[in-house]
Amino acid sequence: MNFVSTRGNVSKIGFIDTVLMGLANDGGLLVPEKIPQIPAEKLQEMSKLTYQELAYEIFSYYVEGEIPDNELKELIEKSYATFRHPEVTPVQKVKDHMYVSELFHGPTFAFKDIALQFLGNLYSYVSKKTGETIHILGATSGDTGASAIEGVRGKEGIRICILHPHGKVSKVQELQMTTVHDESVLNLAIKGTFDDGQRIIKELFADVEFKNKYHLRAINSINFVRILAQTVYYFYAYFQVAKETNAKSVNFSVPTGNFGDIFAGYLAKKMGLPVGKLIVATNENNILEGFIHEGVYKPGEFQSTFSPSMDIQVASNFERYLYYLVGENPGKVTELMNQFKAEGKIAVTEELLLQVKKDFAAHGVVGEECLETIKKYNDETNYLLDPHTACGVAAFEVCNEPNEVCVTLATAHPAKFNESIERCGIKQTFPEQISQLFNKPQYLEVIEADNQIIVRELEKLFSFAAN
Ligand SMILES: *Cc1c(COP(=O)(O)O)cnc(C)c1O
Repeated sequence: MNFVSTRGNVSKIGFIDTVLMGLANDGGLLVPEKIPQIPAEKLQEMSKLTYQELAYEIFSYYVEGEIPDNELKELIEKSYATFRHPEVTPVQKVKDHMYVSELFHGPTFAFKDIALQFLGNLYSYVSKKTGETIHILGATSGDTGASAIEGVRGKEGIRICILHPHGKVSKVQELQMTTVHDESVLNLAIKGTFDDGQRIIKELFADVEFKNKYHLRAINSINFVRILAQTVYYFYAYFQVAKETNAKSVNFSVPTGNFGDIFAGYLAKKMGLPVGKLIVATNENNILEGFIHEGVYKPGEFQSTFSPSMDIQVASNFERYLYYLVGENPGKVTELMNQFKAEGKIAVTEELLLQVKKDFAAHGVVGEECLETIKKYNDETNYLLDPHTACGVAAFEVCNEPNEVCVTLATAHPAKFNESIERCGIKQTFPEQISQLFNKPQYLEVIEADNQIIVRELEKLFSFAAN
């Protein structure tokens, strides 16, 4: 399988090179040249598979032999052996027509583990095969950082630097990242927002000379592997729910920040999975909701909310969707992204807006709505939602028609966000892995959100590579 850039200026590359390139060298994002189509009979067969078997089938379409079959199987087995639930992403019925896909049974209790356990093992595999040094640079709104560190810590030949917005992540998120004491892990708490961190890493990755000198690799959802690994649970959840309800198609409500998770759903649908509506659930940082309703994508003022992992204004994966929206035309994407750079917004035509509305529904949670949803479901169904999942459930309530079946992606465990749960007057018991974090010392540096300062920190961490 070949991959191309949304901006059209990278020559075709294979799967492993796509993983290693992360951000496309022309500043765009890498996408499959042709999305594989899974026929209905094949879907029927896939519906009987375990999560790991399903992952293997789906990945195989994209890896196309670049990793020998038995080794790919091993990578998958190893990646999901760290999950606490045998089904990896079990589906729970909450009430009639309403299911959640629990994506938080991995080591750091958020859905990021699903892709990052695999990506960590894949980087380690590539490093062993090729002798290539892997230096990871990532930005996090809270969950990616912990998950990426957990995915690579202790693996030979890998160093990792994570930028997180100082004081803007939950206590548990901060502890998960910063209590890891390891020479190969550097936590930089930047004075700024997630958007500042994401902008800085995108600028550093776009400097191809710098990227190559330091073997910089990406773990953010600019990396196509993140998207690919996240398509698997859409298939898995669809199969479970279709069996139980006989629904022909299933809607998905997705708590959205960087548009990575929902883009995985869009990809699954394009591969042939009978997905109905894809519901974009946001919080007050609701640029994507605005785009889906009005056709104008315009980041505004950053807001801190009850769901900090979704406190994102500029959604990097949005460019992948734009590429398909404009008919896989890289010239058009480049034009729109240049317009975005110059004017700070993208406006699409009425005709394209009609298509957007066919592809997505959207609802942005405002004010107390998030907490009200947590309280209501805790009282009425005895199911404790984390604040991100609560945004998804609130959007389900607004966007799902009564006769439709919907799966909300439960993107995190409530214990990660006790600040919001406490505000609902709910007392929860922490899983052991989380309560033990509170006694550990933290390792982090607080710095300005400045490219030069960050480059200096990276050079210290990676110093042996420059020798
Ligand atoms: C990252 C994250 C999201 C947003 O996912 P995107 O792929 O960035 O849209 C939602 N919920 C939680 C708990 C997250 O960690």
